[in-house]
Formats: sequence, C-alpha cells, structure tokens
Amino acid sequence: MDRDAVAVVLEQLGEPRYRMDQIVRAQRAGAGSWDEVTTLGKPLRAELAGHAPLWSAVPEERLVSVDGTVKWRLGLADGRQIEAVLIAHAQGRRTLCVSSQVGCALGCTFCSTGTMGFGRDLTVWEIVEQALIAAQEADSQGARLSNVVFMGMGEPMQNLLAVFGAIEELHRPAPGLGISARQIAVSTVGWVPGIAAMQDFPLPVRLAVSLHAADDQTRSRMMPVNQRYPIASLLSACRRYCDKTGRRVFIEYVLLDGVNDSVDDAKRLARLLRDGRFHVNLIEYNATGGEFRASRPERRERFLLALERAGLEASVRRSRGADVAAACGQLVTARS
Ligand code: SAH
Ligand code: SF4
Repeated sequence: MDRDAVAVVLEQLGEPRYRMDQIVRAQRAGAGSWDEVTTLGKPLRAELAGHAPLWSAVPEERLVSVDGTVKWRLGLADGRQIEAVLIAHAQGRRTLCVSSQVGCALGCTFCSTGTMGFGRDLTVWEIVEQALIAAQEADSQGARLSNVVFMGMGEPMQNLLAVFGAIEELHRPAPGLGISARQIAVSTVGWVPGIAAMQDFPLPVRLAVSLHAADDQTRSRMMPVNQRYPIASLLSACRRYCDKTGRRVFIEYVLLDGVNDSVDDAKRLARLLRDGRFHVNLIEYNATGGEFRASRPERRERFLLALERAGLEASVRRSRGADVAAACGQLVTARS
C-alpha cells in the first residue's frame, strides 16, 4: 500500500492517525484486501479501496528450494516485477534478501539482474511489503524474520532515500517489524557517494561492499562501475566510513575460476585491506549463464588460507536456493 497516498485520504476524511497502524497491523496479520481489514468500518474500507490497493507488491509465484529457501516473484501496481528471497537459518532465524530497484543500471557482468537493465526505483512501501510478506512466511514456519539484507535486485545506494525510509520502518517497533539495526545490511556495488551518505544515517546498520577483485583491471572487467569509482577511491570511502561510525565494513568477494581466485589475488587483497577494519566474505559464484565459472573448492580453501595467514578476518558464504534461481546474482524477471 502506498502509505503516503492512504495517509492523505485518511486525513481528508478526518480519520484519527491510529487508523494507519490498524491497517499495517492487518497487513502484517495477512489481510489480502481492504475487505479483510476488519478493524475499519465498511464505508471507510470502501472509500480506501477506491483510492489505492492494500498491497503495492503482490506475490505472483512462490518457489521453495530443497534447502528451504523461499523465492517470490512479486507484481507491482504498474505491472513490473521484482523478486525477494527468504533464507532459513538455525534457531528459527530467517534472513530476507530484499530488492531495492526493478532491475539494475550497473551491468556487472556476472549478475543476472545486471542483464535486465534498469526499470525503476522501488518506493519505501514496495520494499517494506517484501518484508511483511516474508515475516508472515517466517511466522508460518514457527520462525522469526530476524535479518534483512539489501542484496536482492538493484543497487540500494542509487535509491538511498527509499532504502533509508524502509530501514526505519523495518526497525520501528510494532506495527513496524522491530528488526535490530545490526541485523540489517546494505550491500553496495561500491557507489562512493552512497557510502558517504550512509555514514550519517543514525541507525547502526551493516555496510557490505562488493569488491570482488584486488586490481582495477580485473574489477573493471567484472564491474563497469569501477571506471567511475576505482578501488583506491572506494577503499578510502570505506575507511572514512569506519572512522566516522566506529563500525567495520564487510567486503564481499565472489570467487571466479581463473579470474580473481589465485593465491596472488588473495595476497593483493590482503595488502589492500590490511590497515582497515574489514571482514571478508568469500562468496560462491552462482551460475548466471555468462562467461564465468565458480572456483573449485580447493582453490577457494587456498584463497581463504592465504587471507587468514595475512591476518585478515574472512569467511565463506555458502550459496543457498540455487535450484530455484534464488541465490545471489540469480534474480531476474521478465517485466522491467
Ligand atoms: N547491487 C548490490 C546488491 C545486490 S547484489 C551489490 O552489487 O552489492 C548482492 C550480492 O550478490 C553482491 O555482492 C553481488 O556482487 C553478488 N552477486 C551478483 N551476482 C552474483 C553471482 N552470480 N554469484 C554470486 N554472487 C553474486
Ligand atoms: Fe546491480 Fe549489484 Fe547485480 Fe551489479 S551485482 S548488476 S550492482 S544488482
């Protein structure tokens, strides 16, 4: 629901402010249409139904992976589509991977979303509703939506105002989703002005930066954005962020066979990151039909060992949901 539009209607009708919370609570409880928002009187429901749909993102398809990962394709009011993914962990925790844009303008060569081109930015509410849908799913599994990562479709830092608005709502106590800020992560391709803007955002969310290469030539081959913000400028922005916030930065590094996964690459990476407060997440490459292949496990282990020997903190992030194309880099829809 476009809450801004609905707020205007409520105000015009002279309705009290708590009506909005009643509507959000109904959405959270699974109401599918205005008719099911039974905490409002019938005439008000009818009036609101004439102005805006209850949901601005509606599940059109739900796929479940063998590992329990759930992927939705969601239709938006203008007919465009996005995807969202819910990943199961131990102890009843669930992580939602949200989209921030329809498609993406940045064209990384290893990412399916990149092949779609840019459709449009999502609104705050289109982002928040992905979380409302995921929270219901987590409830139905006897679990809890504990983490949200902006690692779905799109570059969150090119839609930062909506992303900030959504984070505030995800974090807000009920009828917000009450998710701890530290359990929310924003992943960026390395959009330097966005990193600078994030250091002034008051909630202590995590920042993840998709570095993926330890030299500019390799990074430019993988990520055209590197021509605009090469590695040195990106890492200086990360260091300023660490200094200003006192928090560390998570560096993402997708291992591609023969491209960026040699021991020399690991040593170069360690040199680049040595004086910072970084944690490296090594990511398994998920097939997207392009020119790349995933690193073999023994190369991955050697890479990890070389980083650790050089004193870096690093871990491997295993791929989830690849059988239903729900893994990192595999999100793509037909209607952008
Ligand atoms: N646009 C943001 C966030 C969305 S992508 C960004 O690029 O950071 C989320 C993560 O998935 C990024 O680290 C991205 O580089 C990674 N990714 C993209 N394609 C991938 C693939 N095919 N396999 C594994 N990770 C991939
Ligand atoms: Fe866009 Fe991120 Fe995919 Fe690059 S990796 S094309 S920035 S979604």
